[in-house]
Amino acid sequence: MASVESALEYLDAVKKANTSEPWRYNAFLDILKDFKSRAIDTPGVIAKVEELFAHDPHLIAGFNVFLPPDYRIVEDGQRSGPDASQALPSIETESSDDGDDGLESDGQASVGGPDGSIPLFDTAVEYVKNIKETFAEQPEVYTSFLALLHGYQQQTKSIAEVYADVCQLFASHQQLIHGFVHFLPSDQAPPASTQAELRLPQPAVHATAPLAPAAFEPTPEVMAALQSASQVFSDAERGHLATLWQASDPSLAVICAAYANDQDMDDLVDSLRRLLIYEQPAVTQSTLGRSIVTVNVCRAGWMAAVGVAVVYTGAVDAWLEASWLRLSTSEDAAARLFRLDSFEPILATVSFLVWLGMYYVLDNVLPVAMTRPFRIHRTAVSNKAWVIESTGRAQELLAYLMPLVVFDLCFQRRAGKLMAAGKCPSLWRLVGQVLSCLLVYDALFFCCHRAMHAVPALYKLHAKHHTHALQRAIETVRLTLVEQAVDVACSIVAVNVTGAHPMARMVYVPTITLLLCDLHSGYDWPFSLENVMPGAMWGGAVFHDLHHRNGRLHFGKFSKIWDRLCGTAAPS
Ligand SMILES: [Zn+2]
Ligand SMILES: [Zn+2]
Repeated sequence: MASVESALEYLDAVKKANTSEPWRYNAFLDILKDFKSRAIDTPGVIAKVEELFAHDPHLIAGFNVFLPPDYRIVEDGQRSGPDASQALPSIETESSDDGDDGLESDGQASVGGPDGSIPLFDTAVEYVKNIKETFAEQPEVYTSFLALLHGYQQQTKSIAEVYADVCQLFASHQQLIHGFVHFLPSDQAPPASTQAELRLPQPAVHATAPLAPAAFEPTPEVMAALQSASQVFSDAERGHLATLWQASDPSLAVICAAYANDQDMDDLVDSLRRLLIYEQPAVTQSTLGRSIVTVNVCRAGWMAAVGVAVVYTGAVDAWLEASWLRLSTSEDAAARLFRLDSFEPILATVSFLVWLGMYYVLDNVLPVAMTRPFRIHRTAVSNKAWVIESTGRAQELLAYLMPLVVFDLCFQRRAGKLMAAGKCPSLWRLVGQVLSCLLVYDALFFCCHRAMHAVPALYKLHAKHHTHALQRAIETVRLTLVEQAVDVACSIVAVNVTGAHPMARMVYVPTITLLLCDLHSGYDWPFSLENVMPGAMWGGAVFHDLHHRNGRLHFGKFSKIWDRLCGTAAPS
């Protein structure tokens, strides 16, 4: 069977050869559509193509890419093939009572479980359709499921991780959790009766056993559906599609089979788009089509800002010292707030609300056309999802910060610390202290994060954060209570270990909350640190997005140092 690339090349060739007679290209698409919907059979489609392209034997010969292996047109117009009266092979997969999964030998697409023994292809197809219908109002859930399935089949996540993610994703739909057992190797599926209570699989001995790729032998109908659908895709998307095709991706097979017979292509196109998100290599700005000129302009902007700070260092130092004196001694409202024991938790809460509000406006208020060019994934972005899924997040945000406030109210201690703090550091010392806090936080978080992915029992605490593969700023606070505590503890340790001055801590809090929101925002701004910093040592949103999709790479949030040292950075 020809590759999807050669079929797409052929389509381009047809278009180019008929620029003066565009009706021919349209007529060809109609013939393809009829072929796809089985309104005409293979000998019929050959006859029509020969008639349409009678003036161009090359185009007739090129049509072979669409034909089943048994058929072939040679350049002088002859054709070979089985008896012309033979009907096309049926696309419907027959489910056989003996559980025979010999679908591959029938020329049918096959989705195999990791050990190649499961499941029945139509079970998988029905399951995927069921999820799309169940979550019609929450397309993000369907996208995330495809991500899980894809990650599972690409071996980027262990079976325990995948199953934990499925339990989180379908928390309120037990039957979908049960249904997923069909995708698990039989020796690792928890017994159906205990599964609901367990919620998570017992760590299995074979949890990291290699997953064998399943065969993908598309029928002509699936092939034709794919051809028609891919016409609306960009070149980059076609490239990713070709990658999936060449890798015989079982998710691709399931989706094509699920929607190949639909009258319109909407479901197929939509599902393919959602699947393709996980093929986009999230590596450099160049993959996002980011112009190097734009990045250099942003870089120059940052350098200019640093230059201005250098020129006015003396003035800024004097202003910092005066501000510190006022905040630590004056009786005005701002100074009294600054000296409150709960000042830092309050600052963190307000910062989160401000930054989340900013990203909310970007995602939901500004025209999509304006923000989409800066999105890491420019397709399948539903702004609505932000609103639906933000329900209940206010409580999560409060739960994130409440313990700190309570702690501060119980242990009065800030006054003494402020007294002992001494002079305000100079501008560059202060910047150095803030950077040190960020780096220490990052190193601590890296260790905790890696442990959470490595130990199945700990992953249960982290799975919630991995439920949704497509990122929005609100995902920053999608954490279990334990994770929230770990995250805050990393920050507290960082500011204390580095001995940061209260003024530096006051800068650190809004800075780290902004970076955390940006990390999950799904945006790749040309002025982001990861784009403007030389040496590619800063991770940021693009790489954290990769972590959310993949689960085995990029455990660091900000710096890439630890991932480079531990071999968990994406190959560049
Ligand atoms: Zn995250
Ligand atoms: Zn993670």
